[in-house]
Amino acid sequence: MRPPSHRRLGGGSRSNPLRSGGADGRKSFHAINIPRISAGSEERLNATQPSRAVQRVSGWFYDGQRFREGTVGWEEDVVVEIRSGRTRRPLAEGLILPGLWNAHTHLGDAIVTQELKGTIEELVAPPHGLKHRVLAKAKDAAVIAAMRRAMATMIRTGTTGFSDFREGGLNGLKLLYAALAAMPMQGLALGRPVGLSYDSREVAAILRASDGIAVSSYIDWPRDAIEKLAADARRAKKIFAIHCSERVREEIDAVLDLSPAFLVHMLHATDADLERCADAHVPIVVCPRSNAFFGMTPDIPGMLRQGVELHLGTDNAMINTPSLLREMEFAYRVARMKGGVPAREILEMALRGRRLADPHATSAIRVGARADLVILDLPGGRSGFASILRASASDVRLVVSGGRLWPAPSPSVRDASMIRGPRRRITRSTR
Ligand SMILES: [Zn+2]
Repeated sequence: MRPPSHRRLGGGSRSNPLRSGGADGRKSFHAINIPRISAGSEERLNATQPSRAVQRVSGWFYDGQRFREGTVGWEEDVVVEIRSGRTRRPLAEGLILPGLWNAHTHLGDAIVTQELKGTIEELVAPPHGLKHRVLAKAKDAAVIAAMRRAMATMIRTGTTGFSDFREGGLNGLKLLYAALAAMPMQGLALGRPVGLSYDSREVAAILRASDGIAVSSYIDWPRDAIEKLAADARRAKKIFAIHCSERVREEIDAVLDLSPAFLVHMLHATDADLERCADAHVPIVVCPRSNAFFGMTPDIPGMLRQGVELHLGTDNAMINTPSLLREMEFAYRVARMKGGVPAREILEMALRGRRLADPHATSAIRVGARADLVILDLPGGRSGFASILRASASDVRLVVSGGRLWPAPSPSVRDASMIRGPRRRITRSTR
């Protein structure tokens, strides 16, 4: 579905560990200088570099259908071993999932920290919504620090990849890359022009420096301008994505004519609109916590009945913390209110967005896949799917992102030689 150029973030980067962290690899592809702005080290995660030795975790791993008991091993940034039976000294044990993929974020919104009051328009609509006013005034270093904080939250809650709608034109993209540079994550950066108008030079620069373009909504834009934006993205073989039918129902044929890679929300879509999306193979990203904040809920079972491929996103970082563990739990509850969906479907929604970065990626843990894993201290077996919907950040034992470990392992307590010395000293001092 996606043009081949997007493979670079996933399958194409396996042999080079330097390129697994997003911005490192991006620099060679895009003519963009990442600003040397230090946002402080407080949100830098202490992740390791990928290891050339095979590292292993054991427990119940997701094979794309169910949880199987066994061991998963990876070398550098690629899964190289899957077998039944547990290994003797795993880095972690528990429920083993592929790293989650947050299919829709606005990480820059983490700059807004106050309690929010007001309507969708007052808070998020361009150009005068609260977030746009705060972002326009914020210092670059503060925006980078806020995005880095949001990324740290994602890693700590098992998310290793995301698709971000980045405001602020070319400079907005630079800030995202600066934030991403220190983080063990994959990010798809979707930029947009600074204003609600089309300038071919600005759009060309944004497309060179990004994975594509993502805008607020069809109705916010002059028709000819948004058509040119989408056409430029298509010509550059990059992603075009857009919010749709969030506040009001929008004309689905006009939106699909823009060849979007995915739509976000579709709260006010009719069954016929959803069927059109399914026929056109255009996935929909739902963000139920964001919708609920504004008094609405997506009809997840209804969307699935129309055959739509659903993804899960956490939307604005000022409205929701970007934790997919929380989003999955909430999505499951909201789906139950409209008839319910299997827990496994909710998990898949939090995994399949990675196909935007790599069309060959699957939701299964398999040999040859990128070493993106999250290990949770939760019951496995047949209870695995139900466990995930009860998971919280405190259940995360280990996150592996492109082979990099978070948290970086502390000296093993099993290694007696490392603790013998300090223990003796403690014993002596208490005499
Ligand atoms: Zn959004």
